[in-house]
Amino acid sequence: MIIDGKAIAAQIKEEVKRKVELLEKKPRLDVIIVGDDAASAVYVRNKQAACAYTGIKSEVHALPASTSQEDVLALVRQLNECEDVSGILVQLPLPKHINEQAVICAISPQKDVDCFHPENVGRVSIGAPRFKPCTPAGIIELLKRSEIKMEGTLAVVIGRSNIVGKPLSSLLLAENATVITCHSKTANLAAIARQADILCAAVGKPKFVTADMVKEGAVVIDVGIHETGVFTQSGKRKMCGDVDFDNIVGKVSAITPVPGGVGPTTVAMLMKNCVASVVR
Ligand code: NAD
Repeated sequence: MIIDGKAIAAQIKEEVKRKVELLEKKPRLDVIIVGDDAASAVYVRNKQAACAYTGIKSEVHALPASTSQEDVLALVRQLNECEDVSGILVQLPLPKHINEQAVICAISPQKDVDCFHPENVGRVSIGAPRFKPCTPAGIIELLKRSEIKMEGTLAVVIGRSNIVGKPLSSLLLAENATVITCHSKTANLAAIARQADILCAAVGKPKFVTADMVKEGAVVIDVGIHETGVFTQSGKRKMCGDVDFDNIVGKVSAITPVPGGVGPTTVAMLMKNCVASVVR
């Protein structure tokens, strides 16, 4: 089975749209973007489009790359105080002279729809989430809606970033999987990966997971996104993930493609968090 992330994301957004229609106070997402990183601009446009589709109000605050950390913090504080704003998202990465952690910590935990604030991260790890981290929560939805059982399975997560690897391990644990988190210093990585019933790759390296690292019949979730040197007929660059999809697809019971797998559900889960920001 090739897991259709686009279709699942469309389902989730439809559900969000119906919920928003019933809300008296509509959610409003304010996005802060600093600088002119091309990929970040695309991500922000995708989030705005999803807001428009689901009926969530959105505002983008585009600041020049030279903006000082103090000015970004001042804007965050202003949005924290603004009653109309229910969700605040700072698009990462920020320019090098701005301390990302300082900015994340300045966002009111009640408005932190990315679920990056330490208080919200802590709530996820004790199993009492206010918001759920978007990419990992999207992966759990992909598995659930594809009727893939997590309880009792061995899930191996490759990657321990604060955005994907660590929170994904927490959410899989909450689903009663037995979880191994691997990273750049893990010994015998291939042997551990081969044990996995569910193998999640969030390494940030193109085609890192090869066929010899995957058990026959495993479920493979590919979080990575990379541009390749190959172009499609329409002139767009082909994308690939952290998994060598072509050589693995015949061996597994289910796998997410890149694009069209994990990516679309990340934005859909952000919309769910925007609803949670007004429904308490
Ligand atoms: P990151 O660079 O912050 O973390 C990568 C992790 O991989 C690190 O914890 C590191 O320990 C581990 N790693 C690196 N080399 C390794 C090796 N040789 N063996 C084992 N582990 C190794 O990256 P990230 O933010 O977690 O993102 C990972 C990938 O997912 C990237 O390609 C990113 O673009 C993509 N991503 C996609 C989405 C989405 O919505 N689809 C969201 C976030 C990130």
